[in-house]
Amino acid sequence: LPQEFKDAQLALKRLEDAGHEAYFVGGAVRDMLLNKPIHDVDIATSAFPEEVKNLFNTTVDTGIQHGTVMVLDYGSGYEITTFRTESTYTDFRRPDEVTFVRSLAEDLKRRDFTINALAMTYTGEMVDLFNGLSDLQKGVIRAVGDAEVRFTEDALRMMRALRFSAQLAFDIAIDTQNALKKLAPNLEKIAVERIRVEFEKLLQGEKSAQSLEIAVRDDVIPYLPGNLQNWNLTPLISDLKLRQGQHHQVVWAHLLSRSSLPVEDMKKFMRLWKTSREDIKAVVMIAPIARQINAANIFDLYRIYSYRKELLEVLQLIGTDTQTIENIAHLFKTLPIKQTSDLAINGNDLLSSGMISPGPEIGRMLKKLAHAVLLGEVNNTTDSLFSYVEELTSYDKN
Ligand code: ATP
Ligand code: MG
Repeated sequence: LPQEFKDAQLALKRLEDAGHEAYFVGGAVRDMLLNKPIHDVDIATSAFPEEVKNLFNTTVDTGIQHGTVMVLDYGSGYEITTFRTESTYTDFRRPDEVTFVRSLAEDLKRRDFTINALAMTYTGEMVDLFNGLSDLQKGVIRAVGDAEVRFTEDALRMMRALRFSAQLAFDIAIDTQNALKKLAPNLEKIAVERIRVEFEKLLQGEKSAQSLEIAVRDDVIPYLPGNLQNWNLTPLISDLKLRQGQHHQVVWAHLLSRSSLPVEDMKKFMRLWKTSREDIKAVVMIAPIARQINAANIFDLYRIYSYRKELLEVLQLIGTDTQTIENIAHLFKTLPIKQTSDLAINGNDLLSSGMISPGPEIGRMLKKLAHAVLLGEVNNTTDSLFSYVEELTSYDKN
């Protein structure tokens, strides 16, 4: 077993020794089988939360009403959740109640997809009640049970289908896809924040463009919080070249950078997704830079200078080849000046020369000087700069 499971094995063993059942479940089991990096190791058990708490020294009630207890006795801590069923979803989102059960099968049955419904004992034995192993091998996202029923219970599962297909580069099984197409309107009932979480994971996935194309084809897009169609973002989807695992701010910026939306509209679009102020600020900073880079393949030194470090980050996010990035990084290092304060004269020098009057003209002149130095029109020495200023100002006066 991978190291991530090793410490947790002790927790499972302790539960078993006390006469309970306990299994590794969910994403960690799936990702281990796919040889992907493992995030949180989740444990499911027949023990009720009080029983779990009695068995371990240090526990935190992270989600006790859903049966989840965090156990801190080993490693970095593990969430241990009591087997449960969920019943009567009256509003297409959260279950009205959670019932604790003693049967693993009941617990696995309520899980969303076959590949997420695998369980593993602490010795590494697999419990596969819904052919999750075969779907893992085939690369298929398939609802556990009747897809229409499952998506009617909880519409968020439709977004999850799309995001897992993007993350894992998996297809969506036919019946699951048909249900998605039919029930997509129910997504309007889901809290924006929850959809956003899944959508961001989709954008960060390996096959984001393909999943977005499915979302377009199956008419899911109109039911997303910010309907991409209304912002003319859908035609751009097929040539989105997002790199996997980018920061969430970066993937939004990339999506928007393909459009011609003005910054105000970008903000409006992001607000529909209830994105935080901080994220919006970052996105509208990055997107216009990415847009210019998309439009122009030639970088003059002044552009490199004015974008500073953001430029390299943005180049990476839009998938520029490494050679180009290295070239530009080198250019950045060899710039004659990296900021206006690197100029051989400063604002005070300009003032005391009497050639420039106090006020905004000073900043403007420094900018002109920086531009000229970067383009090689003038050397960065006090004398050259002053004669250049003289030239410019006398020209202005004539
Ligand atoms: P990730 O690597 O993104 O965390 P994950 O599979 O662990 O993937 P989680 O959202 O952490 O996804 O959920 C953990 C497990 O809980 C899932 O593997 C699945 O079995 C179950 N699950 C989560 N959300 C739902 C849902 N809406 N409906 C049914 N089962 C769900
Ligand atoms: Mg998880």
